[in-house]
Amino acid sequence: MDYKFKLLKIHCAGCALALEQSLNQIEGVTAEINFVTKVLKLKIETESPADTLTEVKVAINRFDHSIEIVDFEDKEEILKREKESKILKYISLSVAFVILILNSLLPMSVFKIIVYFLDYILISYPSIISAYKNTIHGKLFDENFLMVIASVGAFIIGQYFEAVMVMLLYNVGSILEELATNRSRKAISSLLEIKQPYANLYDGETDIKVPLDRVKVGDLIRIKPGERVPLDSVVVQGTSYLDVSALTGESIEKVVTPGSEILSGSINGSSVLLAKVQKLEAESVVSKIVEMVEKASETKAKSEKFISEFSKYYTPTVIALAMLLMFIPPIFSGYTNFSTYAYRALSFLVASCPCALVISVPLTYYASIGSYARNGILVKGATYVETLSRVNTILFDKTGTLTEGNFEITEIFAQGERTKDEILETIAYAENFSNHRIALSILETYKEKINKPINSAWINDYTEVPGKGIMANIFMQDVIVGNSNFLKENDVKFYPVSRDGTVIYLAICGEYAGYIVIEDMVKKDSELMIKKLGRLGIRDICLCTGDEKSSAKAVSDKVGIEKFYANLLPEDKVMVVTDKVQNKRIVAFVGDGINDAPSLANSNVGISMGKFGSDIAVDASDVVILTDEPLKVAYAIKKAKKTHKIVIENIFGSIGIKIAILFCLAFGISGMWLAVFADVGVNLIAVINSLRALFK
Ligand code: ADP
Ligand code: MG
Repeated sequence: MDYKFKLLKIHCAGCALALEQSLNQIEGVTAEINFVTKVLKLKIETESPADTLTEVKVAINRFDHSIEIVDFEDKEEILKREKESKILKYISLSVAFVILILNSLLPMSVFKIIVYFLDYILISYPSIISAYKNTIHGKLFDENFLMVIASVGAFIIGQYFEAVMVMLLYNVGSILEELATNRSRKAISSLLEIKQPYANLYDGETDIKVPLDRVKVGDLIRIKPGERVPLDSVVVQGTSYLDVSALTGESIEKVVTPGSEILSGSINGSSVLLAKVQKLEAESVVSKIVEMVEKASETKAKSEKFISEFSKYYTPTVIALAMLLMFIPPIFSGYTNFSTYAYRALSFLVASCPCALVISVPLTYYASIGSYARNGILVKGATYVETLSRVNTILFDKTGTLTEGNFEITEIFAQGERTKDEILETIAYAENFSNHRIALSILETYKEKINKPINSAWINDYTEVPGKGIMANIFMQDVIVGNSNFLKENDVKFYPVSRDGTVIYLAICGEYAGYIVIEDMVKKDSELMIKKLGRLGIRDICLCTGDEKSSAKAVSDKVGIEKFYANLLPEDKVMVVTDKVQNKRIVAFVGDGINDAPSLANSNVGISMGKFGSDIAVDASDVVILTDEPLKVAYAIKKAKKTHKIVIENIFGSIGIKIAILFCLAFGISGMWLAVFADVGVNLIAVINSLRALFK
């Protein structure tokens, strides 16, 4: 059984990780917690899942009693609970603040101290309870615990006002931080609200609104103006404009007529469309996008790991320093100034939680991945954003990547007595089962020129050799179609020709029969992209193709790439990739997934250009450019660099300021409540800064 819950009031990313680990210890339970989205995913494989679920809930409660578990689908309950707990907190904090100020105006008396104390309790009791419970469960250094120790200590040494103020600021700070974090979460998830949860199912007369899981492939649905296409379908009736910006980032309007494929997530512009459903909910583009982005935020980048590692040492170190500060300096003065140093040491504790850091880094990546998705780029994980930012070598596939992949036949040559139509027909038959862009283009021309349906009963023993061509038995004759090497390997005697385009040779029954020349256009932005990559500081750019040298050179020259490798089989392309990777280059391979899936998988980051995706390309690559546009490669790298910069700013900014605060505290330059103030400030700035990753 699979379950999905929302965990409210889970405090820090470190706790989320620890909780996840402890839940996974329960037998038959696989738990996944995403701290950014606060979602807990459970897979329970036991005989009575309900009992195990109860066990899990008990375990969560034992881990941290303040965490609330709400069913993920129960959106209203989630909102209600979030609101309730906030209002109560706002009221008690405001009251406490007024009492604090009024009380501070009174002359010193026992009464005054008692009021301070009560006020302190009013503000701090949730922290005290949670610190107490967590300490019992052996979690010593949690944030609450440290704050309680610091403030109680301040109380004991007579700093009543400070003690209350510190707790007050800490609470206000955490509220602000949570507000900022929630705002960012909302901003990010609104990027992904591109899924329409219902469809208007049409039964021939009227339509009814149904949830998507009730719709089957082949059903008819009606899409009204302003609605989103709920599932990938084909238009049956109606003509309209579609706004596909949710999938591509650019608001280009696309005209659709009967026969056009329409993708889920796009918005219907002008008039009602009747469409036939082609894909179920789970397989439709929009679900894939949303799912991938959600998954992406679960994989952790190196800098995230660095932060969790850092925070493991940071807190204990600061506590150790606090101890030293409390006991060493007073030795030299004969303990006359013990309370001064005790105060400074306690202040240290205030600055000892690295929480903002822990949240701001994953938040930045999450924002970035969301914004990529909005611009037609799926990045499968934070690590890939990180790798993209460091890429210094890019290898490009040619066909379908730098070029359109729509070939035009520019020449047909028939050897001996054969006719040109015969050559074209035989090649078209051979290509009938292939998905290669060459095949699709040839079949297109065949349809135009000869316009006879292909009878696949005439095609037997079909084999496609990646990067070479096709062998099959057609019209009872053995046929070989492919590049010159392929024919040579099969002992066909012929003279290769040299043309600007790609030459596809044909042999029938081992005899050379002729060739066709096909030409492809370079995509219009390929050249600009190469220029932009140069400007981003990437010098090592190569073209890798299975095509012959002449056409490789022609394309390289046109787009401005200096180095190319031609005549590569898919496995040779992998060799080029692994060779570079072993030489410590950070390699991106850009391909379309046709004959280059292994290279996509073996590079540091595989970028596929999938026109709404050949599935292999999507699986094998780490970054998917849904729109097929070369410029998006440059954009993806530029954005990754920006994201990385934000992460670095957050990490070093916060650590730097923390150290500065500690320094000031140690020398008595700053007081305890100023430390809280600065600390909270840094946290807020880090969270807000991470939001910058949302924008271009
Ligand atoms: P690229 O590296 O340009 O994407 P491929 O590796 O897919 O090219 O193919 C390399 C060469 O192999 C093509 O240029 C073509 O000559 C030949 N080839 C591959 N598949 C086919 C096919 N289905 N039909 C004919 N030739 C093919
Ligand atoms: Mg290719």
